[in-house]
Amino acid sequence: MRRALAGFLGALLLAPTAAAAGAEAGAKAGSLAAAIDARAAAVEPQVIAWRRDFHRHPELSNRETRTAGIVARELERLGLRVRTGVAHTGVVGVLEGGRPGPVVALRADMDALPVTEEVDLPFASKVRTTYLGREVGVMHACGHDAHTAILLGVAEALAHARAELPGTVVFLFQPAEEGAPPGEGGGARMMIAEGALRDPRPEAVFALHVVPQHAAGQIALRAGGVMAGSDRLEILVRGRQTHAAYPWLGIDPIAVASRIVLALHAIPGRRVDARHPSVVSIGAIHGGVRHNIIPDEVELLGTIRTLEPSQQEPIHARIRETVRGITESAGAQSQVAIVEGYPVTYNDPALVARMTPTLRRVAGAGNLVEGLPRTGAEDFSFFAQQAPGIYLWLGIRPPEVAEADAAPNHSPRFFVDESALVLGVRALSHLAADYLQGG
Ligand SMILES: [Zn+2]
Ligand SMILES: [Zn+2]
Repeated sequence: MRRALAGFLGALLLAPTAAAAGAEAGAKAGSLAAAIDARAAAVEPQVIAWRRDFHRHPELSNRETRTAGIVARELERLGLRVRTGVAHTGVVGVLEGGRPGPVVALRADMDALPVTEEVDLPFASKVRTTYLGREVGVMHACGHDAHTAILLGVAEALAHARAELPGTVVFLFQPAEEGAPPGEGGGARMMIAEGALRDPRPEAVFALHVVPQHAAGQIALRAGGVMAGSDRLEILVRGRQTHAAYPWLGIDPIAVASRIVLALHAIPGRRVDARHPSVVSIGAIHGGVRHNIIPDEVELLGTIRTLEPSQQEPIHARIRETVRGITESAGAQSQVAIVEGYPVTYNDPALVARMTPTLRRVAGAGNLVEGLPRTGAEDFSFFAQQAPGIYLWLGIRPPEVAEADAAPNHSPRFFVDESALVLGVRALSHLAADYLQGG
């Protein structure tokens, strides 16, 4: 009874103090949020100008020297600690807030694609280069120009509010998300190997990607696997060359390869769990020189996509046994090589649950929608293996354009409605700020 009374009195005494502390923290959080929104609005024209400049001057993977130079200069101007030349052209900026707290990381990719732009814009890319021996145009056809400009806008918004920021924000500007040129390392994996996530080590990491599947003003989010893991498949079928009029005198690798293609397509959903989406596609078949010779060998090149990390191994095993079974039954021989590419991009469910109120507040009622997983791959997955991560989609389709009519990422007609960019700035800024404040 006495203890209960003491507890009751204690609670009475503590209550006003706790309430006051809570109110003070709430006011601080509110003023930080207001400062971020004000700065994001002020920096919007600059974000659009950065994006147009990057768009006019696109650079292929591991060649982002001009872009990285601008990024480094802007981060230094804002007073961040800046490291350049990470994984070739990557830039890491560290913003220490005025108050102690945890560490979060925000990531943008900087590279463009060997695509010849067909969009009629005053700042359309006219850049041409040689890629794998071919003369090609270069275009920000995946929107990484927007990502880089948005993250610079975030640096501006958070640096402006740094005195009130309780913790540290690491800015990761990464090269070669689309894949390093043959023979070169690069991208997120190489940035991690070169210490981009050490000193300080983030405990959460956030990124976004612009997509035309959602209208400007919308953010799409999903927990779990959001982008597929991708592995490259290389199969060599060895038969025995013969006249095509007398196939029984040899072993026909083209017939074997044909059966392999159809059997591989049947693995997702038939040989592995249909409740976890996966895709096996053959994208190239090389073999033979003319119509009346059955060749010795056929090479098949393909890709394996999975949205559930635990499915990767079973699919690989089924592919190997399927190829082996078909080739053996035909008297042929085969080799299978599976080259691991990107892991599944996995949105940590607890982190998604924790940060959903932030995104709902930032996007506004009805503008935070559930995204569908995609069978494309993303090397943000490597960062999200190091710390719980969220990868969100930022809608950039002009509202008057129907989803079916919008050019997809990697199209020469890919188009970004720039009114969406400021929402990207606010989303990443508030994710970082709210996370640091324990929100
Ligand atoms: Zn892309
Ligand atoms: Zn991309």
